[in-house]
Amino acid sequence: MEITGTAQREAWLARALPPVEQLRDGLWSIPVPIPHNPLRYVSVYAFALDGGGLGLLDTGWESEESWAALTGGLASIGGGVEDVRGVLVTHLHFDHLGLAARVREASGAWLAMHPADATAVARLSAAGAATMVASEIDFLVGLGADRAEATGDVGPAERMEAFTSMAVPDRLLEDGEHADFPGWRMRAVHTPGHTPGHLCFAEEGTRLFFSGDHVLPRISPNISTNQAGAADPLRDFLDSLGAVRDLDPAEVLPAHEWRFRGLAGRVDELTAHHESRLAELLAAIRSHPHSTPWQLAAHLTWSRPWDQYERRMRIFAVTETDAHLRLLASRGMVTTSGGPVPTWTLAVR
Ligand SMILES: [Zn+2]
Repeated sequence: MEITGTAQREAWLARALPPVEQLRDGLWSIPVPIPHNPLRYVSVYAFALDGGGLGLLDTGWESEESWAALTGGLASIGGGVEDVRGVLVTHLHFDHLGLAARVREASGAWLAMHPADATAVARLSAAGAATMVASEIDFLVGLGADRAEATGDVGPAERMEAFTSMAVPDRLLEDGEHADFPGWRMRAVHTPGHTPGHLCFAEEGTRLFFSGDHVLPRISPNISTNQAGAADPLRDFLDSLGAVRDLDPAEVLPAHEWRFRGLAGRVDELTAHHESRLAELLAAIRSHPHSTPWQLAAHLTWSRPWDQYERRMRIFAVTETDAHLRLLASRGMVTTSGGPVPTWTLAVR
């Protein structure tokens, strides 16, 4: 893997926000900060469209600081939010979709996503925060959490309200369709895993690959189960890695961190990472049979000691463990007891 976003990488090491950069004729990256988040920023890509106006890929976290960075970034390239004609969103997470409602309101732009994530956004809005919180707690209890601990980890409904009132897209993009960005040939590549409707985009004129959160240069994206998600999201993710591995783009433009070259090599690293996690989990099940995902997560290695895990971090870890369990099950290597709180053991082969 060769780092091409050297200014982004240097800014990362200096703990600073990278600059707005012009990447090609009519294409810029605008870093939009994510407040209080270790990912630090999302890279919004702005495209000059034939016939005038701008297209955006992703929008940023919904906050005043992020809005100021997005509008300031657009001003620095000689545009404004009112010039935006269309918005593509890679997936429904708040750092990508959060500001879309404000962009659409200020510009009248269309907003496009994959149908699977569009459906999820609509469902979140319809359910509301209180229902979402209750169903997430039930889901964690089903993974072996103590109800009081799960309630504490999920937190109060007020904290979820912003996530249940995001913009619902008015256009849908299926795998292989081209986005309505005049002057560009942005082909949607459906890459489920991180979310069921995650989209990457292959720009066929420049051979640039916009990887969203599917392929990042430093971290592996969170692949986890949830009450409304896919049955086997890790299998989806590994299949989606395979689907993009040999595209051989000129450069990879991810939604976080920095641009790079060498997509196949990075895909191989991510695949190997998950295979070694699967092996570690299998060993944990061997030494602790009849365990829940909640119990098994405590036997895996994490970036800090397990007893320091709480709240959202613990939820991510346990639901990620559950995603790995489901893949082991679909490979026939483990079996579940079934019932309201399933436990896991090695399959007899
Ligand atoms: Zn993201």
